[in-house]
Amino acid sequence: MKSAAFETLGCKLNFSETSSMRRDFEDEGFELKEFDDKADVYVINTCSVTLDANSACRKTVRQALRRNPDAFVAVVGCYAQLEPEEIAQIEGVDVVLGAKDKFHLLDLFDDFVKQEKTIIHNTDVNEAVDFHNAFSSDDRTRAFLKVQDGCNYKCSFCTIPLARGASRSPKIATVVRNAEQLVAEGFKEIIVTGVNSGDFGYGTDENFYMLLQALDEVKGLERLRVSSIEPNLLTEEIIRFAATSKKLQPHFHIPLQSGSDEMLKIMRRRYKSDLYRSRVELIRELIPDACIGVDVITGHPGETEELFQESFDFINSLDVSYLHVFTYSERPNTHALSLKPVIPKQERKKRTHKLRRLSKKKRFNFDSRFEGQVRPALFEESEKDGLMFGWTNNYVRVAIPFNERLVNTIQDIELTSITSEGHFLSTLSESVQQEEQAIAELIDG
Ligand code: SF4
Repeated sequence: MKSAAFETLGCKLNFSETSSMRRDFEDEGFELKEFDDKADVYVINTCSVTLDANSACRKTVRQALRRNPDAFVAVVGCYAQLEPEEIAQIEGVDVVLGAKDKFHLLDLFDDFVKQEKTIIHNTDVNEAVDFHNAFSSDDRTRAFLKVQDGCNYKCSFCTIPLARGASRSPKIATVVRNAEQLVAEGFKEIIVTGVNSGDFGYGTDENFYMLLQALDEVKGLERLRVSSIEPNLLTEEIIRFAATSKKLQPHFHIPLQSGSDEMLKIMRRRYKSDLYRSRVELIRELIPDACIGVDVITGHPGETEELFQESFDFINSLDVSYLHVFTYSERPNTHALSLKPVIPKQERKKRTHKLRRLSKKKRFNFDSRFEGQVRPALFEESEKDGLMFGWTNNYVRVAIPFNERLVNTIQDIELTSITSEGHFLSTLSESVQQEEQAIAELIDG
């Protein structure tokens, strides 16, 4: 029996796609190994957003070949679509598969014997029109379900449309079937994931709002979360739906990228800061306890000191909960490369630090609001220092003393005190404590 091992570089979408490839290999009779183990086939699913995609890829190929110099090495994914020739230069790579072919490795090779020369299967990204279902999980409690792929937008800094092709998605009925399967496997929470999830159903008579409504009806599913949604696609009806839904969690992650209208125009984003503010205000009005996360890029070409300050002031004035700050870095074939002024790298980093400090402050202020409150949390299976961890419905990290019985259950807990690591040390609510006590007495006889 041949064995296969997989490594993912990049985002949750890549993780879900790697999981799907793993399942395909398992179905074909391969023994699945960890990437650290010796295997016959290594599949590396690459990312184009990683700062130094080439050296990350090179390093991973080397690690694989160190474990087994005769192993067949396949490099797939976004970076493979964008720079196949560069990857082919890496010694020991047998095949490079772009966006269209990455799920067809098993159709293309039977024996997986080492090739004399790297084979490149890299068709035009415009031919990547199929949608491949995928899901993955960090543990057995939360599953990331892919509902959309590709993007039709042309943001100045982004290579994803070049790496993944046009926006596409399955029918709602297919997503619902996948969700039902995940529930049957024991997952309590589904996180809806995509490149531009809010664009679900583009060009069809279905849309993202309809998808959320359908997922809300899935029997046995307890929690539904959206990994990220563009502000122009986060409609008022979605926010109103989130305010009444029992399953859709009070947590929004909304990319902003810059709080300056001039920068938003330069970045070719599809909204102005006013629209963003109105979305945040509506969420706060209807769901006051909601967690709101924001993506921001610092040092994009054209971001003068004044425009950065404008962006900073705008973000500072928003009632949001945390920021994901990315430092701009040059990507081949993007519009941003032609823009001026280019911001020195040192200055980009300085701006990132400034925003990360703001993020810490916002996160602390947000979390502190809930001190002493009782909220439901879903507990994970891993144990660290005698503690188990979970997320509340509104995405506050909590910890309680480890108790095997509470893994993959949702419990009401009291958020007692915030630690320096940024999570709440918590206690089970009184009713849960009584129940636990009764079970313990029963077990003790
Ligand atoms: S919305 Fe913009 S940043 Fe997001 S994937 Fe599409 S082009 Fe890239």
